[in-house]
Amino acid sequence: MGTVVLSVDAELAWGFHDKSSPPMARIAAAREGWRALLDVFDEHELPATWAVVGHLFLSSCDGSHPDIPAPPGWFSAERDGDLADEVLFCAPELVGDIGRADTEHDLGIHTFSHVQFGALETTAALARTEIELAVDVARQAGFDPASFVFPRNDVGHRSELADSPILCYRGVRPTDGGGLGSRSGKVRAAAFGPTAPPLVEPSIDEFGLVDVPASLYLYGFQGVGCRMASLLREDPVVAAVRSGLDAAAERDGVLHLWLHPNNLVTERDHERLGQVCELVARYRDETDVAVETMRSVARRTLAARSDTAGDDPTPADPQSP
Ligand SMILES: [Zn+2]
Ligand SMILES: [Zn+2]
Repeated sequence: MGTVVLSVDAELAWGFHDKSSPPMARIAAAREGWRALLDVFDEHELPATWAVVGHLFLSSCDGSHPDIPAPPGWFSAERDGDLADEVLFCAPELVGDIGRADTEHDLGIHTFSHVQFGALETTAALARTEIELAVDVARQAGFDPASFVFPRNDVGHRSELADSPILCYRGVRPTDGGGLGSRSGKVRAAAFGPTAPPLVEPSIDEFGLVDVPASLYLYGFQGVGCRMASLLREDPVVAAVRSGLDAAAERDGVLHLWLHPNNLVTERDHERLGQVCELVARYRDETDVAVETMRSVARRTLAARSDTAGDDPTPADPQSP
């Protein structure tokens, strides 16, 4: 039977520190959104994977990072400009809240300073440093990170990741030519209602890492089209999640939903989250759908391969069906 995975890209201002006009309303809402997410996950006993930007573990910072081989000015937003406020870049108490929550979450990492791994200018040395620092600060705080989310879902430097304690990452959503989140998918969703998000298959990549692809970004369909569709029927994203849950109740596969704390800006955003969590919990309680973290899906995937390898004298081939 199917499984639901919830992953959260927890970054406060780090998601936008390299942008010339960061979305201030989203950034200002991020701390409250973070706590609201922990509350709603506890309310429904839903474990999630929290991919945290490593710098948030620091209790203070003067914006000086000579040991990180990042391009000049990479950390300047910590000191100058609209975002220059320590509470947007350091949040050890919020990270600690993940560990203190009633629900046992999977604490993963989202690099140290939101470096885009697939970008041409990101060197292997920078990627390695970003992974090592994030793992170090998480371990110092008592966590043991095994899950990774690439900033902007830009997959890159997987060999560096495979050399670290990380077991798995969130891969890109399979292209289906018009899913919710794509441009054509948004047009179609506004006109006809959303399509069901895909159930994805975790797989072991050529580096030995488990790829747990995304199914649906819960806040990728926003704006006027979404409000229009919501006037006529229920929130189209909630309807899409229900379709995905129906599929997961019938067959194997993973429905991988994700979001950021800073997506929770308006009342409507909070309502959507509440409805999605309530639905996921209801399917877990009333059907055979399970809720798992990326870490647990990765361990299960790796264990299944070891079993297969044990049965067969030839080495396991991750490409084989
Ligand atoms: Zn800093
Ligand atoms: Zn991010």
